[in-house]
Amino acid sequence: MEQKLIIYNTLSRKKEEFKPITPGRVGMYVCGPTVYGDAHLGHARPAITFDLLFRYLTHIGYKVRYVRNITDVGHLEHDADEGEDKIAKKARIEQLEPMEVAQYYTNRFHQAMDALNVLPPSIEPHATGHIIEQIELVKEILDNGYAYESQGSVYFDVNKYNHDHHYGKLSGRNLEDVINNSRELDGTGEKHHQVDFALWKCAQPQHIMRWPSPWSDGFPGWHCECTAMGRKYLGNHFDIHGGGMDLIFPHHECEIAQAVASQGSDMVNYWMHNNMITINGQKMGKSLNNFITLPQFFSGEHEALTQAYSPMTIRFFILQAHYRSTVDFSNEALQASEKGLSRLMDGMKTIDQITAAEKGTGEHFDLPYVDELRTKCYEAMNDDLNSPILISHLFDACRVLNTVADHKATISAAALDALRELFHTFVLDILGLRPEAGSNSAREEAFGKVVDMLLEQRMAAKAAKDWTTSDRIRDSLAALGFEVKDTKDGFSWKLNK
Ligand code: ZN
Repeated sequence: MEQKLIIYNTLSRKKEEFKPITPGRVGMYVCGPTVYGDAHLGHARPAITFDLLFRYLTHIGYKVRYVRNITDVGHLEHDADEGEDKIAKKARIEQLEPMEVAQYYTNRFHQAMDALNVLPPSIEPHATGHIIEQIELVKEILDNGYAYESQGSVYFDVNKYNHDHHYGKLSGRNLEDVINNSRELDGTGEKHHQVDFALWKCAQPQHIMRWPSPWSDGFPGWHCECTAMGRKYLGNHFDIHGGGMDLIFPHHECEIAQAVASQGSDMVNYWMHNNMITINGQKMGKSLNNFITLPQFFSGEHEALTQAYSPMTIRFFILQAHYRSTVDFSNEALQASEKGLSRLMDGMKTIDQITAAEKGTGEHFDLPYVDELRTKCYEAMNDDLNSPILISHLFDACRVLNTVADHKATISAAALDALRELFHTFVLDILGLRPEAGSNSAREEAFGKVVDMLLEQRMAAKAAKDWTTSDRIRDSLAALGFEVKDTKDGFSWKLNK
C-alpha cells in the first residue's frame, strides 16, 4: 500500500497504523439497522462514516469484504433482555407478519442508503437467517462454562467471565461500575446476577418470532447475531468492527465477551466508533419530537424542518465533521452545508469551463501545485479519515479555480487535467458525493442551456455590430439577476442569488 492509514482504535484508545491480518485484504463488520421503522439521521452517520472507510480502503488498493447486518429479531425494547421485540410489536399493532415489517423497512432503508450514495456492503446477513449459527455460539459458551441455563433461557455469566478476563475493556468500565449503574429489578429473576445478559430467551406463549433450540422454543439475544455472523463471514479473527458510539456498551462489550468465551481469543483487531448526532443540542428521541427520519429530511415534511434537504446535503453535512466529533443538527447548519456543497460542485464544474493558458500576468498554477494539494488530501484521509480537513483543501482549490475563471490567474493544461482527476477521485469516489439527480438538476441544466443560447445570439448580434440587440439581451439577463462577462473566447455567466 502506498498510503499509510492511521485509525483510532476504541479498544487501545489511541491512533494506530492500520495493518490488516492478510496483506491486501480487509475484513470489516458494521452493525446495521434494526428494521422496525424508518432510518433517521442517527442511522445515516454510521452508514456514511463506514461507507467513507470502505471507499477509502478500496481506493488505496485493499480488497474489502464489508459485512453489515440487518437486525430483524431479538432487539427488545427497554434493554437487551427485557420488553417486547421491536419488530414483533410493530407487527402486532399493524396486524402484519413480522417478516413483512422487517422487509418493508429493509427496502426503505436501502432506498435511503441509495439516495445517500452509500455503497451496498459485500454481504448483508439477516439475524433470522442465522439462528443455527447463534445456537452454536451459545452451545460453545455453555460448554466453556461461561453461561448457564435458567427456565429455558441461557444467560452469560458475567462474573465468571470477569474473573478470568476483563469485562469492560472496550468501554473502559470495570464490573463494579457496571453493577452500580445497572437497574435493580424487583423480585428474583431468571438471572443469577443483574449484569448477566441473555444469549437465548425462552419465548412467552404470545411471542410470535420463535425457533426451536436445545433449551426452549425461543429466540437469540441481540448481541449473539453480530458475533455469530461476523465469525461466519469474516473468520475467527478479522480486522475492523464498527458502529455508533452508543453501541460500545453493552452491545460491543458483550460481543467481545462472547467471542473470548467461545473461542478463547478476541475476534476483532480494530474497533471504530462514530460519535452521535444531537438535534438543537438535545439527544434525538421519539418523545422529544425531534426524531426526524431520512424520508422526512428529503421531503421536508416535519415541523422541525424549515425546508427539504437533499440526500447529498445530508451526506455533506455529516462529512463536514470528523466522525469522532459530535454533530449538532439545526436548519441553519444544514443550510450552510447546502451552500458548501454547491460551492464544491460548482468548483468541479468550473474545471470544465475554464481554459488552460501559459503564464500570464497574475499567479500561475502548474503541476507542483496539484501535487502538493494531492499530498495534503491523502494526508487528511490517512489521519483517521479527516474528511473536514480534506473538504477544506478542496475548497482552497475551488478558490484557485475561481481566480482563474475571473482571469486573475492562469493554470497550465497539465495542471487542469490533474485537478480534474483529483476532484473526481476525492469528491466523487472517496467522499461519495454526486451531482444531484432528479428533476431539479435536469431542469437547471436545460435552463443553463437556454441562457447559453441567448448569449450566443448576443455574440452573433455583436459580430454583426447590432449593438441594440446585444445590449438588450445583456440588460434583460442582468434584470433577472444574471451577471454576464465577456471573455477572450466568448462569455461567462453566473446567477447571483
Ligand atoms: Zn451489532
